[in-house]
Amino acid sequence: MSSNTVNAKGDDNSFRLQPLPYTQDALAPYISERTVQFHYGKHLAGYIENTNKQKAGTEFENKTIEEIMLHAEGGLFNNAAQVYNHYFQFEALQPGRENEDAPCEKMTEILRKEFGSFDEFKKRFVQAALTLFGAGYVWLTVTPQKNRLEIVQTRNAENPLKEGNIPLLNLDVWEHAYYLDVQNLRAKYVENFWKIVNWKAVEQRWIQL
Ligand code: MN
Repeated sequence: MSSNTVNAKGDDNSFRLQPLPYTQDALAPYISERTVQFHYGKHLAGYIENTNKQKAGTEFENKTIEEIMLHAEGGLFNNAAQVYNHYFQFEALQPGRENEDAPCEKMTEILRKEFGSFDEFKKRFVQAALTLFGAGYVWLTVTPQKNRLEIVQTRNAENPLKEGNIPLLNLDVWEHAYYLDVQNLRAKYVENFWKIVNWKAVEQRWIQL
């Protein structure tokens, strides 16, 4: 993900919500315009606002979102991590393409090496998304040596970087991510997700490691 986007600031040293790389209705029908308006425009904006308020006058005042996420605790950690986690997901989405939810060739090969096949990776990722109790995220991560991929669940705002693993892809399973669209049907939301994953963006994350 572009660290520039996450850490974009106004003249007053406050983080500022950056525009999405697509229009708010671009993910429909898989994620509705209304959900994007609330999820990106209200929830993410709120986490940014709270991070700004809570870092003011502390040792974190001039730190990046990543630095705050790695070293702060409590409310400041929660809000900064949510800023990171949300940009991370929204930047790896793109308008849906019918009948095409497979990754690009390079990512298919990388996933095949670890999981046996793309379908097996998908099955395990879906299982992790459906069994995460309460709020949190499912991630595809890679070790810093780039030799081992893993599917991990994290709770609330937690992020795999804190455990030393590098995220490549994430899925927000907080209810606010899908309740407006599919209410209690998390499985439907997860199914829709595959239609709008931007695998080229995921591949770029891999290449840039
Ligand atoms: Mn969210």
